Amino acid sequence: MDIVELEKGFQETEEIIKKLANENGNNVEIIRGGGISDTIHFIGDTRKVSEKEGYVKELPGILKIWDVSIPYKNIARIGAGKNGEVVHRANRIVEVKGLDGLIRKIGNGKHIFIVGPDSPQSLEQTLTIAKQAKAIGEKYGVLDRIIIRGGAFKPRTRPTDWRGLGWDGIKILDEVKLETGIPYVTEVMDHTMAEEVAKHADMIQIGTRNAQDFELLEAVGKTMKPVILKRGFGNESEEWFSAAEYIANQGNLDIVLCERGVKTLFIKEGYCRNTPDFNVITHAKKKTILPCIFDPSHVAGDDKIVMQNLLGCLPFKADGSITETLHIEAFRKEQKCDAAQALVMSIYEKAVQAILEYEKSVQPFVTEMDNYFLNRSKA
Ligand code: PEP
Ligand code: MN
Repeated sequence: MDIVELEKGFQETEEIIKKLANENGNNVEIIRGGGISDTIHFIGDTRKVSEKEGYVKELPGILKIWDVSIPYKNIARIGAGKNGEVVHRANRIVEVKGLDGLIRKIGNGKHIFIVGPDSPQSLEQTLTIAKQAKAIGEKYGVLDRIIIRGGAFKPRTRPTDWRGLGWDGIKILDEVKLETGIPYVTEVMDHTMAEEVAKHADMIQIGTRNAQDFELLEAVGKTMKPVILKRGFGNESEEWFSAAEYIANQGNLDIVLCERGVKTLFIKEGYCRNTPDFNVITHAKKKTILPCIFDPSHVAGDDKIVMQNLLGCLPFKADGSITETLHIEAFRKEQKCDAAQALVMSIYEKAVQAILEYEKSVQPFVTEMDNYFLNRSKA
């Protein structure tokens, strides 16, 4: 039992279903249709509540009960019923609140700028970047679209590489938040740490290397914090969406998908670190209700091609980007991870300018094209 279709006017039944959902560990999402009925979607793991299907069926006003056959049903755009009926769900807008009182909304049609160091190495470095980001936010009137990034715990391919400052890194990020008011996202790699990190971070990242660590996905889901889920190295889209479903199954729909490039032969040939799959952004937004952002840094591997990749995601309607930066060029030689791909903040400012210009002048054209194809498929 995943979706219940209820005739309008049966408020008492609606209340009973909400209570039942609550008792069985589910939330509900109600889609109020223009016709004679509303649909109530059970969010989370529905196996337990499904035991009550016989009881629900007999309640007044119930028109139909559906099982959804899509494996990632909590986040799917379409709820397909047993008999092939179709329901389109609205976009999920993920909100991240800052101490500055501003709410960053991811998925509302405006580009979100997630920016910061690969990893916090010192308070000076991280705070300077955040202050630079704040100044850019204020200058262009987009402070409510800025989130700071920084991985305190770093997944590294080689065991002898530097793995981040750990909890000292979280301390730095906390101080930066306190000083600037801007919320931050940081990576969690181990399920036993999710709850503790969630007490500090405003948003949690699950990185590519852990994108299918199912215990981690569930633990992060349970924190009910907004999550960025990067796509695994070679994940097919359905594997990626199913990983997101592990988070959603805990009742947490505040998930932001992030395309960060997939492995191809090109890495050996030396012209990019990972190959950007721009088309998957469009696909993700079509198949799921979740916002999808783009990471131009790990795609590029080289600061000279970060900007091009960042601008490249715009026509695919990415809901934002997550970019690694330096406060000053001189710090590059001191940076212990991902130094080559870090963009200096002065160049990042130009990217912000270009994106805002794009939103004004080109985005309306892209929207017009979208509408053309939408209307053509309806005809
Ligand atoms: C990162 O964001 O620094 C990172 C490790 O990203 P990814 O998981 O995409 O490699
Ligand atoms: Mn990195």
